[in-house]
Amino acid sequence: MRILITGSAGFVGSHLVERFLNEGHTVIGVDNYISGQVSNTDLFRDHPRFTFIEADVSHGIPYTGEKLDWVMHFASPASPPHYQQFPVETLMVGAQGTQNGLELAHAHGAGFFLASTSEVYGDPHVHPQPETYWGNVNPIGVRSCYDEAKRYAEAITMAYHRSRGVNTRIIRIFNTYGPRMRPDDGRVITNFVHQALRGEPLTVYGDGSQTRSFQYIDDLVEGISRLMMVKYHEPVNLGNPDEFTMIELASKTMNLVESKIDLVNLDLPADDPKQRRPDIGLAWKIIKWRPLKGIDSGLNRVFDEQKIKS
Ligand code: NAD
Ligand code: UDP
Repeated sequence: MRILITGSAGFVGSHLVERFLNEGHTVIGVDNYISGQVSNTDLFRDHPRFTFIEADVSHGIPYTGEKLDWVMHFASPASPPHYQQFPVETLMVGAQGTQNGLELAHAHGAGFFLASTSEVYGDPHVHPQPETYWGNVNPIGVRSCYDEAKRYAEAITMAYHRSRGVNTRIIRIFNTYGPRMRPDDGRVITNFVHQALRGEPLTVYGDGSQTRSFQYIDDLVEGISRLMMVKYHEPVNLGNPDEFTMIELASKTMNLVESKIDLVNLDLPADDPKQRRPDIGLAWKIIKWRPLKGIDSGLNRVFDEQKIKS
């Protein structure tokens, strides 16, 4: 297949490029490096089936090559510090970027795959979160540039499916981690791992009682690959239901190092969701998918990778 991936220089995008190249597909990566890394493009630059286009997909996707089979829209700042630094760009890539991807898919008769997020559930009142829950999002809060962009992206994807017959997929990704995350991306796993590597106190926001459920990148990539094979057009949660508090995550991180590490409590950011855990019953039903890698071995893997880099 010929697959165009926006956000190819990002964390998730680069793992998808790797998977598709390994499976023998041709991949066109598109990225403007707003939150990605040139090193992720360099990994594939010399691959005979990989082409890279540096472009801002909110302004258009300048692809003029042969017929595409898939347009996978993964471009968007995803870490709260990144999207809050670039709120307008984040709204644009969720809105215009998604429409540009849908138009390209429509023109090529290709499938369109949208990376949405558990953030569409906001600070959820229903726990764990099934796809049928409509969410609790502050439409003008500091996270709204991301949450509302993704909610709009889902809406326009369903509109192109319903009114123009585009063969679409939507996944709601829950917190995902793994190798190739930007060391300075500000998300909790990268912060904790780098703080532990430097022997610095781990920064717990608020009292650390808020929960998240972290999935390893390989599990996410497997779920994406399976969903491409079935014709299911409504959103599907992909995440690991193993839920714990940020204090528990800090203590798991501390177990990775021999020296003693302290915790420091910093202010809880505005609108930080208090709890998050996916209901993955639908993913099991339609693609027989569930995550396989647990947090301890996954954290170990990231710790080793970042140790080599630092
Ligand atoms: P990331 O920041 O590492 O990667 C995103 C990539 O998109 C970056 O390389 C960035 O430069 C690129 N990009 C952003 N705006 C662009 C634009 N206008 N034009 C071209 N390129 C642009 O983030 P990630 O963690 O890899 O996330 C990838 C996708 O998955 C995002 O859509 C994100 O919303 C979604 N997602 C990720 C997670 C997670 O935990 N990692 C959770 C939920 C959803
Ligand atoms: N967090 C934390 N310390 C950090 C970074 C984040 O305690 O150094 C908390 C943050 O407040 C949130 C959770 O960890 O409750 C997950 O944050 P992250 O930015 O990784 O993802 P998101 O908030 O998008 O789920």
